[in-house]
This record gives sequence, C-alpha cells and structure tokens, in this order.
Amino acid sequence: MSQSNEKVIKPGGTIGILGGGQLGRMLTLAGRNMGYRFVTLDPTSDSPCGQVADQQIVAHYDDVAAARRLAEQSDVITYEFENVDASVTELLMKEAYVPQGSKLLYTTQHRLREKRAIEAAGVPVAPYEEISSAEQLREAVLRFGTPCVLKTAMGGYDGKGQWVIRSLDEVTEAYETLSKARTELVLEQFIHFDKELSVIAARSPRGEVKAFPAAENIHVDNILHLSIVPARIPQEVQRAAEELAIQIASSLGVIGLIAVELFLTKEGQLYVNELAPRPHNSGHYTMEACRTSQFEQHVRAICNLPLGSTELMSPVVMVNLLGEHVEPILQAVDQVEFEGADLGVSPKLHLYGKQEAKEKRKMGHINVLAADVDQALAWIERTGVWESK
Ligand code: AMP
Repeated sequence: MSQSNEKVIKPGGTIGILGGGQLGRMLTLAGRNMGYRFVTLDPTSDSPCGQVADQQIVAHYDDVAAARRLAEQSDVITYEFENVDASVTELLMKEAYVPQGSKLLYTTQHRLREKRAIEAAGVPVAPYEEISSAEQLREAVLRFGTPCVLKTAMGGYDGKGQWVIRSLDEVTEAYETLSKARTELVLEQFIHFDKELSVIAARSPRGEVKAFPAAENIHVDNILHLSIVPARIPQEVQRAAEELAIQIASSLGVIGLIAVELFLTKEGQLYVNELAPRPHNSGHYTMEACRTSQFEQHVRAICNLPLGSTELMSPVVMVNLLGEHVEPILQAVDQVEFEGADLGVSPKLHLYGKQEAKEKRKMGHINVLAADVDQALAWIERTGVWESK
C-alpha cells in the first residue's frame, strides 16, 4: 500500500495498535468515542488495551505472522511503545499504512541519534560525548567535571541504564557495568535543573502542528509522580518550551505525538533531555483538563483529521497511582472527603485494568482539577496516600 500523505482515515475505520498497555487503552477509549474500531497486538491476554479494544491478537511483539494479521485488519497502524522490533516495523511499512513511519522510531530508540536530531532542529541538549572506552570516559569526566551522567544509548527507561558518576573512582565500575548492555554509551554533563518540564506536540500529515501546555514534572525514584499544569514558571518560559516542541515536531517530520522532556535551569535555559514518539505519562492531565486529550489528538493526527484545540480548561495536577497506592485509593474512593468538594477540587480517577498491583507498577492516575494547582496539591497531601514520598 502506498504511504500517501493525503490519506484520511475516517471514523468507522480500524486502528491497529502495536502494544496493549495503558497508553493503548486510553488511545482506544478516546478513538472509540470518535467512532473508530481498534485491534491490538500484545503477548498477554486481557491486556489493558485488549479489555477495551474490539479485538486483541495475543502474540509477541516480534511475531511477524501476528504483525501481518494486525496489518490485514487495520486501516492504519500505530504503536504505544518505542522499542518496536525492526523486522516487524519493516513488514508493517510494506504491508500496511503506518503514517508515523519508521524513521522517528529509529531516531528515538537511540540516545545519540536522538540528540543529533534535536541539535539539527536547532534545539539545545545537555553537552554530551559518545564513549567507547574506559580511558575515554576518564578524560571526558575530567572535562565535564562531576557529577556527570553515563547512559546506555539504547534500552534504558525510568532511570535504568544510567549511572551518575560522582567521582573519578567510579569510572571503571560505571563503564564496566553499563558496557554489559552491549550498546554505545554516552556521557552527559549534569544539568543542575530547577525544574523538569515536558511538552507534548502533535503533527499531522497535512503539516498542522499543535503543542499542549507545558507540564512541570516531579519524579520520585525516577518514576513520574506529579505533572503540574500550568507549570509554576513564567509564561514566556512556558511558551518557549512549547515552541521548542513545535520546532522538533516540524524538523523531525513527526506524524502523531511527540513528547519532549526538558530541563529548565535557574537561569532560564532549556535543554531537551529526551523524546518519546507516542502518548506520554506526563500528558495524561490533558484527559479532563484540555479541550482535546493527547489520545484524541494522536488519533486525529494519524488519521489526518484537523487537530483539536489544546486549550487548557482548568488547572490540574496529575498524580500517578503505582501498585502500592491502589489499596489505599480503593479504600478512600467511597468517602465523601475523597471528592474534595470542600477544597474546590475534582479528582478524576483512572485505573488501567491491570490485575496485579506490583510495587512501582503504573496502575492508574488521578487528574485533580482545581481552581489553582495549590488546591490540587493540598488534596493530594490530605489523602495521605503518597505520604512516604
Ligand atoms: P532519563 O532516563 O534520561 O529520562 O533520565 C531519568 C532522570 O535522571 C531524569 O528525569 C533526570 O531527573 C535525571 N537526569 C538524566 N539526565 C540528566 C542530566 N544530564 N543532568 C541531570 N539530571 C539528569
């Protein structure tokens, strides 16, 4: 099938999703409202996405025959995670309509390629160097100064595959440990950031680009804990961050969503940390707080419909529910106090339908809508659920 830029997938068409996690689930729920049908491919039956899709193909992500079945049933294919197997991507590109293409995946699967692409878009990243020996690492650490961060080019997420080097004594061990990942290594200067931000932008085949309001993100143990919107930064910095995301989406020819994670220093300098070419946890706040959610926007973009308004309708704080938070939330959910009317907030609970509430596993989130973000934060504190954080 040809990869025409003009193709429009109208409601009633079928969207195939590679991956059956919560991102696919929320994409499906948004797209179903618009009249689309969904089929997902995931190795675990009754996956979060499979529960709400028209159909789930139960197979491994690298199962080429299963990918072919997905292709046959879908008018358009998307993915909800980045580490898509290369042979599957190749097959889908040949036998199906994948408007997002494979180039962006290839770029964002690898930190060095990603940094070069961001730089080519004219957007700053933290100073970095490719590392291919312990000796070179020592020299680079001397040049960058400590602390600095050694990362594997591929396969790392949520802080895995990285080592904050605090002294020269750690060089050998850091190099030997991360080298086991058998991928290139990259050393980054440590950015003493004041805030971590993210901006999600969407671009459609017709070339329309829109960014959602910047989120201020707070991580605990390298896992996203809170997204605060509007971010507590000057409006011109919010706009600058949104502009950078638009610049990246345009320069990289993105189709669909691109999540841009940024560091903001006290001096007001923005650096891009990394990209994700898919819906992003820090964009879940859009579900109730924006006129269009990130999920609806992704459907619109890949189907080549006009993009929806990204206007923020209400201040909001998104708080993640990990395995250890589920029980306390379920205990509190039928209490009048939980609704937070006295604080003027409206907490909107989302659970992903995962059976096993393992510690640190992302099980759901709550979007706390409020007149201002302080009230939303006060509600989160009052529940006591995230107290140990
Ligand atoms: P990453 O896997 O690249 O998203 O990094 C995970 C977390 O480590 C980030 O959210 C930051 O809090 C921290 N981090 C990563 N790279 C740097 C850096 N160059 N300087 C300071 N902190 C960093």
